[in-house]
Amino acid sequence: MIIKPKVRGFICINAHPAGCAANVQSQIDFIKAQGSIGSTPKNVLVIGSSTGYGLASRITAAFGSGAKTLGICFEKPATERKTGSAGYYNAVAFDKAAEEAGLYAKTINGDAFSNEIKAATIEQIKADMGKIDLVVYSLASPRRTDPNTGETYNSVLKPIGASYTSKNLNTDTLKIADITIDPASEEEIANTVKVMGGEDWEMWIDALQGADVLAEGCKTVAYTYLGDKLTWPIYGKATIGKAKEDLDRAAAALNEKLASLSGQANVAVLKALVTQASSAIPVMPLYLSILYRVMKEEGTHEGCIEQAYRLFTEGLYASTPRLDDVNRLRMDNLELQPETQAKVEKLWEEVTEENLLELTDFKGHHEAFLNLFGFEANGVDYDADISPLVEDSFL
Ligand code: NAD
Repeated sequence: MIIKPKVRGFICINAHPAGCAANVQSQIDFIKAQGSIGSTPKNVLVIGSSTGYGLASRITAAFGSGAKTLGICFEKPATERKTGSAGYYNAVAFDKAAEEAGLYAKTINGDAFSNEIKAATIEQIKADMGKIDLVVYSLASPRRTDPNTGETYNSVLKPIGASYTSKNLNTDTLKIADITIDPASEEEIANTVKVMGGEDWEMWIDALQGADVLAEGCKTVAYTYLGDKLTWPIYGKATIGKAKEDLDRAAAALNEKLASLSGQANVAVLKALVTQASSAIPVMPLYLSILYRVMKEEGTHEGCIEQAYRLFTEGLYASTPRLDDVNRLRMDNLELQPETQAKVEKLWEEVTEENLLELTDFKGHHEAFLNLFGFEANGVDYDADISPLVEDSFL
């Protein structure tokens, strides 16, 4: 079939296998071009490994330090008539590239929140990997079923306390109009914490430690976003921010548990980027279109792979890691430079439907969005007839 993007609101419902493979390869090429990042980590578990920051972390570990990697993701395989999800094609492409490079790589496709997938992961680690020295927690999900009660919780993206009105860009129509989002109820806040907070990260580390598959000196990291004034009402100080605060609580609890292994748990603060998760957040597409313009002009623009590389070299494996006063690894330093934020705030005030393309990098944002699904990748013939089916070796 000839595969062209089918965009529906903030999601693209299909993906291009060759384009996804090209994206994975270009991230691998970036990491290889940086040279070795050292001999650690050696045995890495990435939970949320198929897209965005998790995929970039997996590529950095495998191709930067030659690590064995086990990835956990929740992706849709292709059928003869329907393409698979982008993460499915990414994971297949990663496994193939790793194998060709002589690197151990296995992918488990299933619900990371479940007890079954945790048990299957431990079994695989015991069989093939020995002990894990880095656990990356990079899940982004709108819902979670508690494995012990069977109850399913949904997260919401809402302000807390009062309703919030803001400029918002409709990425389909390119119209900019005010949106008002009502505040979350107490139950919605609690449910969002249940989905995106630290509970499942703790459950993973408890299960891994309980099965004795964590190495001496093991590190674990979970990802968050803090942002600044423009995004606080919908992110930092909103329901998702509350959930992310719970990661700090979990990191402190995990540091106590990992002390017996001289292990370490950190939250890493990463920059705002176009990913499937961030595209769903109101206000973000306009903020990102402006941020991309400003950071590209400053020469400070980074994608997932550049951030993951810095996280490993300036954070996790640095002799003096870039830590803040609450023990978080800070990779959002360039986005949050006061002069960068001041430029973004000024453009935010000035932007209208009429000057959107002139004042912002909406074009770059849109390309980055399509790129997530394997479209607009360099060197891919999008007019070619291609099978949506690819062979996976997922467990
Ligand atoms: P993403 O949507 O690109 O990736 C999410 C990953 O989680 C995918 O691999 C997906 O398969 C996996 N996943 C989702 N539900 C799952 C489940 N039930 N079981 C197994 N796997 C599942 O998201 P992302 O933007 O890379 O976000 C990853 C983390 O980084 C999140 O914690 C997010 O809050 C954080 N973060 C994102 C940004 C940003 O701007 N995108 C910035 C800072 C931090």
